[in-house]
Amino acid sequence: AFDVLIVGGGPAGAAAAVYAARKGIRTGVAAERFGGQVLDTLGIENFISVKETQGPHFALALDEHVRHYDVDVMNLQRASALVPGDGLVEVQMESGATLKAKTVILSTGARWRNINVPGEQEFKNKGVAYCPHCDGPLFKGKRVAVIGGGNSGVEAAIDLAGIVGHVTLIEYDTQLRADAVLQRKLTSLPNVTVLTNAQTTSITGTDKVNGLTYKDRATGEEKRVDLEGVFIQIGLVPNTDWLKGTVELSRHGEIIVDAKGQTSVPGVFAAGDCTTVPYKQIIIAAGDGAKAALSAFDHLIRTSAP
Ligand code: FAD
Repeated sequence: AFDVLIVGGGPAGAAAAVYAARKGIRTGVAAERFGGQVLDTLGIENFISVKETQGPHFALALDEHVRHYDVDVMNLQRASALVPGDGLVEVQMESGATLKAKTVILSTGARWRNINVPGEQEFKNKGVAYCPHCDGPLFKGKRVAVIGGGNSGVEAAIDLAGIVGHVTLIEYDTQLRADAVLQRKLTSLPNVTVLTNAQTTSITGTDKVNGLTYKDRATGEEKRVDLEGVFIQIGLVPNTDWLKGTVELSRHGEIIVDAKGQTSVPGVFAAGDCTTVPYKQIIIAAGDGAKAALSAFDHLIRTSAP
């Protein structure tokens, strides 16, 4: 059995693996796609001490750092169930294999919900973005839209309004769903237009985004906005379906963790975008992965026979 088995190989899982392996304990990482979301990221400019890098390059560096230690990396392996037990926790894989470990760190990340309109896939990283903290500065002085009028959409619009030239916020419903205080702030900004009852129908462009079209749901009329960027803010979905019923999840499906990364199951820890920890960023996921590994080690020295 592993001393620490990490499920998920993004920044959180990689950091957990390095921290666990450096304790000289038996460490494994099982990941559906080692590297995680950074594999789909173009530029990264906010991982402190690395001024600028590319996502795939960052993912390779994660892989090299983990393999520098004695870690059993099991890539292209998807976990399908977690079975807590007395002393050992089991992780069942879709391949049919079962892995056993004294402690488990869950770091399966999350994915941005897609809006599924023509142009979204085509212009990803070419004007279509999901993370204002990451990509906001790329649109300095330009015109952007934010799709989604919940808290994250309105927060994104307020944030972007301070960087870009103009923001159009587009909400499908007849009213915004964000907290009133955020809505007041939003409507006080001079360079923001709010469109409600508007259904985005396509994102247009040539080699990069040049606009979007939407249907005015009151009149049925098709309209167009010229712009350079579209931020889609209709939800971040944690990859935790397989944990329903075993580990306590929030109503958004995030794994509930305490300050040490401990979940509701003894010996099972979690880190990164799949947890309730706010602000889904690489540096935060990596820091929490390190924290979860130290917590797992602490658990081991308290519970394992010498
Ligand atoms: P993830 O990176 O999501 O990794 C999850 C891992 O778990 C993957 O290996 C996945 O394959 C695996 N997994 C999932 N389900 C299972 C399962 N059932 N069994 C086994 N393995 C599983 N953040 C920044 O700080 N700066 C940026 O510039 C930036 N840009 C971004 C751009 C894009 C396009 C996207 C999508 C995100 C961006 N982010 C950025 C966010 C950042 O990528 C995430 O916060 C970070 O990757 C979270 O790390 P994680 O390890 O928690 O999860």
